[in-house]
Amino acid sequence: MAEPAAADLEALGAEMHALIAELYPLCRSLTGQGVRSTLGILEKVVPLQITEVPSGTAVLDWTVPKEWNIRGAWIQGPRGDRVLDFRDSSLHVVSYSVPVHRRLSLAELRPHLHSLPDRPDWIPYRTSYYEPTWGFCLSHRQLTELPDGEYEVFIDSTLEPGHLTYGEVVLAGQSEHEILISTHVCHPSLCDDNLSGIAVSVFLARYLAGLANRRHTFRFLYAPGTIGSIAWLSRHRDQVSRIRHGLTLTCLGDHHPFTYKKTLSGVTAIDRAVAHVLRQRGLPHQVIDFFPYGYDERQFNSPGFRLPVGSLMRGRHGQFPEYHTSADDLGFVSPSRLGESWSVLREVLELLDANRSFRSLEPWGEPQLGRRGLYRSVGGSDLPGIELAMLWVLCLADGEHSLLDVAERSHADFRVVRAAADALERHGLLEAVDAGGAGPKPSPR
Ligand code: ZN
Repeated sequence: MAEPAAADLEALGAEMHALIAELYPLCRSLTGQGVRSTLGILEKVVPLQITEVPSGTAVLDWTVPKEWNIRGAWIQGPRGDRVLDFRDSSLHVVSYSVPVHRRLSLAELRPHLHSLPDRPDWIPYRTSYYEPTWGFCLSHRQLTELPDGEYEVFIDSTLEPGHLTYGEVVLAGQSEHEILISTHVCHPSLCDDNLSGIAVSVFLARYLAGLANRRHTFRFLYAPGTIGSIAWLSRHRDQVSRIRHGLTLTCLGDHHPFTYKKTLSGVTAIDRAVAHVLRQRGLPHQVIDFFPYGYDERQFNSPGFRLPVGSLMRGRHGQFPEYHTSADDLGFVSPSRLGESWSVLREVLELLDANRSFRSLEPWGEPQLGRRGLYRSVGGSDLPGIELAMLWVLCLADGEHSLLDVAERSHADFRVVRAAADALERHGLLEAVDAGGAGPKPSPR
């Protein structure tokens, strides 16, 4: 598959940014209409299967909470003016705030107000999922300007038995071996974390849905953080062994270089595939070790599951100032960065789907490539990359080495190695040892 032209990638980036703009105002949380509406908008890009898990359902060691919905909220000041209105930003209310309507003094109100003294113009993002309370978030500048006097606060929310909602796109392949792409969908008006991950994921799903001959089954999961992936895992316990490779996606639209967070073991095919693509493209990036904090990679890598799920991001969550604030807005994510993230991931997924092991059908000495029209270079000159790659593929075609092994060993781009293997297979010099399967088991280097 040829690399899309830069103009196509720019157009795709613009489409992703437009989707983010449409999703941005919605008040998402662990549960509720914000998540449902979000999944409904994603369905305009690719069809989803929606699952509703009732409140109170035991999921692994957790329980699905009550469903939270909010219709509006405001604070009225001593002069009768609206000093804050939820309609201006979904960040203004602490997520999962219990309903409240009362009059109180500024001193009584103050413990319920959250701001960022270091970033006086930004609104923080705060949640209180498992502690029943209420609160408002606002800029520190606004907070310090509030006059003394009596305030009226109103949070028109409900916290009632309902459901937790998640969505999936499952693209069946020739094999039931799966590649899992997971994004959290529980954050309100924040663009990089994680509308960028959602947008990149759903446009990858649309692209892969259009490809014939997928070997793996691809599963794209859109679930609220922690409790959502735990609910999904609890309902797929007997099927998760099908997952051969996985990634969580977050913070993919900002201006930082890529960060890849490895799986727990750090040596699986997904770890090697992401590192290979970033390295071959010459993109500045860092690869960091797994740690049990962050997003849902920690659920997938837990000892009961131990699924090889890494995490791709640009800015590292929690380590850039805009993270979890109103500064993570539509201007913080750009179409070109979204397009580049999509393109890197497309290449990673295509690599994993094409990665397999071959056995040479002429293993005794080197087969004569010139006679077959596969070897055209003039003796003594440097080999073009594809011809050297053919020699590497043949050299390692013992059924024990994958094409990714060949690419790493030869320092060639996987796509060149794959093209070399395709040519050799067409000429009857190779046979796949995993025909019908979806790639080799991770092999030792
Ligand atoms: Zn977050």
